Amino acid sequence: MSVKTANRLERLRQSLAEKELDGIFISQADNRYYLSGFNGSAGYLLITAKDTILATDFCYVEQVKRQSPDYQLFQLSGGVASWFPGLVDELKLNQLGFEAGEVSFNQYRQLADSLSAPKSSVQLVPVEGVVEGLRAIKEPEEIELISRAVEITDRAFEYIEGVISPGMTELEVAWELEKFQREQGSGALPFGIIVASGPNAALPHAQPSERKINSGDAVVIDMGATIDGYCSDFSRTLCPGKPNDTFKKVYDTVLGAQLAAIALIKEGMSGGEADSLARTVIEEAGHAEAFGHSLGHGVGLAEHEQPRLSPNSTETLVSGMVFSIEPGIYLPGWGGVRIEDLAVMEQGGIRILSKGNK
Ligand code: ZN
Repeated sequence: MSVKTANRLERLRQSLAEKELDGIFISQADNRYYLSGFNGSAGYLLITAKDTILATDFCYVEQVKRQSPDYQLFQLSGGVASWFPGLVDELKLNQLGFEAGEVSFNQYRQLADSLSAPKSSVQLVPVEGVVEGLRAIKEPEEIELISRAVEITDRAFEYIEGVISPGMTELEVAWELEKFQREQGSGALPFGIIVASGPNAALPHAQPSERKINSGDAVVIDMGATIDGYCSDFSRTLCPGKPNDTFKKVYDTVLGAQLAAIALIKEGMSGGEADSLARTVIEEAGHAEAFGHSLGHGVGLAEHEQPRLSPNSTETLVSGMVFSIEPGIYLPGWGGVRIEDLAVMEQGGIRILSKGNK
């Protein structure tokens, strides 16, 4: 077994023991990949103190042999009722965790019904965030992969700064960015690129449209790349043409809020404390209502993962975490400004990974 997989499984097993679980049934795709190296789109892991089983159907059997040679392969066929009891019964489990946030109501019913035979001893126990908690703290090689995705996004931004001009549509700008990042080696992009101009920029998650960019518009760009499944996440707000006073004031406030957070976030703080460092600056500028989302979120195999940097977050920021710092101000009818960088917590403080101009 690779050292990487063995370490991750050891941390998982510690966590299972603390929760008094005999095993865990993993169905979430990123968790499956993280623990096994298998990146196919269908399959389950069943991990106990002794067993590491990867259950998948015919389409992925060869892929599993290649990507997860250390796992015992269990081939699925037919509906849940025809394989789930066979998968778990041999293992003599009592408490089997399953990912409550991932299993649909129908799937849960099928799993539970398939175990209802009188002799099954297995109890399904809903758990949340078990593997996600492990994933929140990155290994050096994960930080390296995220950094490579960040570099691609940085280069794409530098490119678009030279290309964007009034008259282009949001969709044209988004496509230039998508193409550029894929040409630079990114895998499938982690989320649809946001290019939101003028009044559209007041929608934090606007989708690019046919709208032509006007001179003086605020244009929010939010994008990411992936390397081996690891994401970057990056936002900037541009103004093709001459920025007016509103733009300058709003932009300076958002930048001030972001720089305050960057200067003051330290290891050991809670996500809530980190959020308030930027939020206070925006509140003091009179825009409390206009910053309606959280300051940031963890980034890794998912573009949104633990930790949360939001007003009520009690998660502690510790070494190895990678998260975004992205305050924004959104004014309906006018537009918006968001500035986002990725940071890694190390040696007590943060290091900013993204290098794009701001
Ligand atoms: Zn983000």
